[in-house]
Amino acid sequence: MDTALAELREWFDREGLTRRLIEYSEPEGIIERVCIPLIALGPGDGDFVAAPHPVTCGWPGAPLTAMTLEDYNVFLFRWLEAAVHLGLVRCAHCGKRILDGDDLPDPDTWDAIFIEKELVAWMLVHFDCKRWLAKKLKGMQPFDLPVRPAPHIDLSALTPGETERRPDAGTLD
Ligand SMILES: [Zn+2]
Repeated sequence: MDTALAELREWFDREGLTRRLIEYSEPEGIIERVCIPLIALGPGDGDFVAAPHPVTCGWPGAPLTAMTLEDYNVFLFRWLEAAVHLGLVRCAHCGKRILDGDDLPDPDTWDAIFIEKELVAWMLVHFDCKRWLAKKLKGMQPFDLPVRPAPHIDLSALTPGETERRPDAGTLD
C-alpha cells in the first residue's frame, strides 16, 4: 500500500469513517477488508470511487494530518466542484449529468450530500431527486461495490481563501 493511501486510511480511521469486514476465504484464511469513504459519481454500483488524498490533487491548503473533518469537507467540495466542471458527475438518483453554474433552472439545481451510515459517501443529487435517495441507500454495503480509484483532478491553482471556505453542503435526513 502506498504512503498516501496508508495516511488517508489512518486519518479516516481517526475520524471513525472507515468500515471493516472480517471474512474467511481460501487460501488466505481470515482477512479483514477495510473500506474508506467513497464518492458516488453516478447512480450505479459501478459509479463509486474512493475518496482521494488531498496531496494527490496538489491541494494547496493545510496538509491532511492537520485537517479536521470540516477541512476535508471543504477539500471534497472543491474536488466535486471541479469534477462537475469537467462533466464527470451524474445525479446519484436519476443519473442525469450534474451541471455547472450558479443560475441553473429548477430541475437542474442540486446539492452535495454526505452520508455516514454503513456506507460512508459523498454524492451529488438534484433537489427533486433527494427524497428518493434515502430509500435507495438504505442498507447499502460498501463491500459489495466495485470501488475504483478517483479520477485525477488538479486543485493546485486554488487560492488560500478557496481552500478555507466552508462548503454549503446538505444533509440527508
Ligand atoms: Zn437527479
